[in-house]
Amino acid sequence: MSGRFSPDTVERVKESADIVEIISAHTDLRRQGQRFTGLCPFHEERSPSFSVDPREKLYHCFGCGVGGDVIKFVEEKEGLAFPEAVEALGERYGVEVEREAEDPRAEEARKRRARLWELLERTAAFYVTFLWDSPKASKARDYLQGRGLGEDVLRAFAIGYAPSAWDQVLTRGQRAGFSIEEMRAAGLIQQGRQGGFYDRFRSRITFPVRDPRGRVLGFGARGMGEDAKPKYLNSPEGELYRKSRTLFGIDRARGAMARAGRAVVVEGYTDVLALHQAGIEEAVAVMGTAITPEQLQLLASHVEQVVLAMDSDRAGRDAMVRAQRVAGAKKMSLRVAAMPPGEDPADMLSSGPPERFMEVVDEAVDLPVFEVESALAGADMSSPAGRDRTLDEVVPVLAAMGESISRAELVRRVADRLDADPGLVLRRIEGREKAPDGHRRGAAGGDARATDPGDAAPPRVASGNGQRQVLSARELQERALLAMCIAAPKEGREFLARLTPDHLSSELVARAWRWLSDHLDAPMDGLPRDDDELVALVTQLVMTAEREPGSREAMELNLLQLEQRMLEDRLGAARERGDDQEQIRLSRERAGLAERIAHGDGPG
Ligand SMILES: [Zn+2]
Repeated sequence: MSGRFSPDTVERVKESADIVEIISAHTDLRRQGQRFTGLCPFHEERSPSFSVDPREKLYHCFGCGVGGDVIKFVEEKEGLAFPEAVEALGERYGVEVEREAEDPRAEEARKRRARLWELLERTAAFYVTFLWDSPKASKARDYLQGRGLGEDVLRAFAIGYAPSAWDQVLTRGQRAGFSIEEMRAAGLIQQGRQGGFYDRFRSRITFPVRDPRGRVLGFGARGMGEDAKPKYLNSPEGELYRKSRTLFGIDRARGAMARAGRAVVVEGYTDVLALHQAGIEEAVAVMGTAITPEQLQLLASHVEQVVLAMDSDRAGRDAMVRAQRVAGAKKMSLRVAAMPPGEDPADMLSSGPPERFMEVVDEAVDLPVFEVESALAGADMSSPAGRDRTLDEVVPVLAAMGESISRAELVRRVADRLDADPGLVLRRIEGREKAPDGHRRGAAGGDARATDPGDAAPPRVASGNGQRQVLSARELQERALLAMCIAAPKEGREFLARLTPDHLSSELVARAWRWLSDHLDAPMDGLPRDDDELVALVTQLVMTAEREPGSREAMELNLLQLEQRMLEDRLGAARERGDDQEQIRLSRERAGLAERIAHGDGPG
């Protein structure tokens, strides 16, 4: 895609984005009146000076001075350029990002996707109605009830039931004007040997799988009959649905994930439902496979920590090592919660309080540690050959970690348990890292160190503009006046007109003054985005404005005091020049001004 954004795209993106959710992924925010405050994600601090305004969708740090709107935050924190940040937010919050003069082919593709989404949404709604209204779905209702799932959560996730008939979805789709080709592309019907088409899902509980924006991409469906094969049937891989790229529940989990800073990944649809029902809403499911790099990528934009609460043995060590590499490259921490043998999360929640499950999640250990420990636990220590096999198992895990203190500790532990020389273990790891086939080391993007689980959280350092902000009393006063002008625009216009660059102590504040003189009604709109300092300052002023009463008296006093400071500057200059006449004139002016300040006079 190319071309400029259409005029209202940026505004719509800003309107839809949840700035508190976005920023919560990087720092804990607490509500304080109309604002949220927290530790600044751009500089190191112990007490919170970072403030977020959820209505204006602005942030500002009173410590280091950074600030801007929600798009600016994404640019800074995710290292994106403005157009990318707009697209990412649009994607995340369901705003169609429009470009002027869209390529006609792209437009056609967009329209087609929209039709397929509509078809899938209608079908999901049909299945829901059937589940609740049809006597033929009573077994399905019993099954779900037997898993402890209430109607609220089932309806929230639009769980449904596909009837046993062969053509319900097919005929309904046709009646609604969808073509056979569209229904097939949506994965709802399939072709029989005789060439005819029939419904793909029959006599099955249906779980709609959605994208983060809540659009149905396909279904997972659990068979109800004794002979239902397979037990779980998914939508076929197609234009919209790709199993490896979707996570069941992501649309409903993303807010909670951002707040919790982590995602809990489980294996089954009903696990997700049970967790949400228990108030653990940061849960999503992979559908019976190991977590894929694409799924981690999807989670990376929401959280820094992923906890796998599933039977990790089944996923296989190779898949886990791959996942660890991806997570390491994304600076995410990937942890494993040791589920009690034979229990899945839904079992745990039906047999005990949610706290029991949360304890297991909180005690999750870093993936490499988990992998190494479980290999050691299953090792045959009785023969050198058995110990060799165990070493073969753990070496890839250790190699994927990259050199780090945590790896060094694990190496010592492995050597100790296998009764081997630590040097041997290290040589094996190095041998693997230097392996000519290359995929072992370079796959994670070369930054092997990033896989150190000990510092998986991204460093909380600003991208260049994180110095502390130290302002003189004079600068504070200038800024206060500008903020009051925003708070009371009617008076503000008058005071902006009376101000001159000479009143202002820095070029930056003068830039803000010039900007406000022309944009007082909507100061954030159309700010030159490449001027970081100006964006941050105007943001701060807009956010301060809400607190400043902006009365005429306060503004008058403030301006007079700025005039006083300006006169003092000039007096100092005249003194240096030895200009006596000017010194006398300025001294008189200053005395008059002091008088007016003392009496609280208006302009004169
Ligand atoms: Zn800061």
